[in-house]
Amino acid sequence: MLDLLIRNANLPDGRSGVDIAVSDGRFDAIEPGLDAQARKTIDADGRLVTPPFIDPHFHMDATLSLGQPRLNRSGTLLEGIALWGELKPLLTHEAVVERALRYCDLAVARGLLSIRSHVDVCDDRLLAVDALLEVREKVKPYIDLQLVAFPQDGLFRSPGAERNLLRALDKGVDIVGGIPHFERTMQDGAASVQRLCEIAAERGLRVDMHCDETDDPASRHVETLAAETVRLGLEGRVAGSHLTSMHSMDNYYVSKLIPLIAEARIHAIPNPLINITLQGRHDTYPKRRGMTRVPELLSAGINVALGQDCCMDPWYSLGSADMLDVAHMAVHVAQMTSIDAMKQAFDAVTVNSALAMGLDDYGIEKGRPANCVLLDARDPVEAIRLRATRLAVMRNGEILAQTEPCATRINLDGRPSTLNPADYAPVEASG
Ligand SMILES: [Zn+2]
Repeated sequence: MLDLLIRNANLPDGRSGVDIAVSDGRFDAIEPGLDAQARKTIDADGRLVTPPFIDPHFHMDATLSLGQPRLNRSGTLLEGIALWGELKPLLTHEAVVERALRYCDLAVARGLLSIRSHVDVCDDRLLAVDALLEVREKVKPYIDLQLVAFPQDGLFRSPGAERNLLRALDKGVDIVGGIPHFERTMQDGAASVQRLCEIAAERGLRVDMHCDETDDPASRHVETLAAETVRLGLEGRVAGSHLTSMHSMDNYYVSKLIPLIAEARIHAIPNPLINITLQGRHDTYPKRRGMTRVPELLSAGINVALGQDCCMDPWYSLGSADMLDVAHMAVHVAQMTSIDAMKQAFDAVTVNSALAMGLDDYGIEKGRPANCVLLDARDPVEAIRLRATRLAVMRNGEILAQTEPCATRINLDGRPSTLNPADYAPVEASG
């Protein structure tokens, strides 16, 4: 007797009419027409079952702090950093833990079960570090939370940042972060990349840097990041987050740069919701979009994972832990509107993000943990179009969250009395 059987599911790779069997918390079989009985059966009825959503770039120490102590009026990255600097001395351990746990509840409801969060280490108290280490343990049964030691105010620009970053790693923070474009000079930025990669290499850790989050086409720290990755043998273990300066760079230079990023097997992590809102703020018209060159990176074979970055914090007033919202924005900003490109955008918030985070046990495959989400959509394109309802969110075969399908009653003479937007999917676009 199986623990769980999901009948007649579609999978993101295009397989349809598949039955998914779960026993002992793991996927036991994935094939059509399984002859088996289970304690619980779910009829997917041709809907999409996907591995859980993943957010490879987030700031859980700042989330849900919107308005504390005031709002970001200019809407720029730099005012956001200044505002966070005002909030930092006011933080309490309990408040950071409570906001993070509350955010994680929302994440579970959205089928978001793996998150990489940067945590600011430019605070001698390391208050946010201790708080998020506690949260990492608390949410372990339902969310994989990776923490990045992030020197928000600059490794060299902020006194004591390197000491505090090393203390955070000693406490158990997983990954080495950085922010080279915020150092005082280009030389300092490059030196910070070098130093931080050396720290990661010495400790056998991964790297994930905020890199070139600026409209300045001369910000080329990803070039140094690629070179240091190869020099130190860190290929495949380094991520460059944002990379927005690439949007504004000269095409000839980019034609040299992208192969260097590919050679170093750097994971690119754009954050479309934030890049489209924070970048281009100093432009009149035409205004740059600011997001990095996603289709070109993908064409070069570079792994692109999309992050949410912010949810109701000093940098962004919106956000709802919905990675389909992130994919939806990427489709628009990068004009990834072909069917294949939209499927790539879906991959970028699922499998690509798993690769970027080094999650080995991810995916709907026999023997892997039975983590998945049943969506009220038939395929990845419809999932993105609808920001589809998460009908059921499962972890180790247990149902963590359920949402009823959207059903609106309408009162129009001679027209249907109820409506679910998911029923509007074009038939030829499914399967
Ligand atoms: Zn960030």
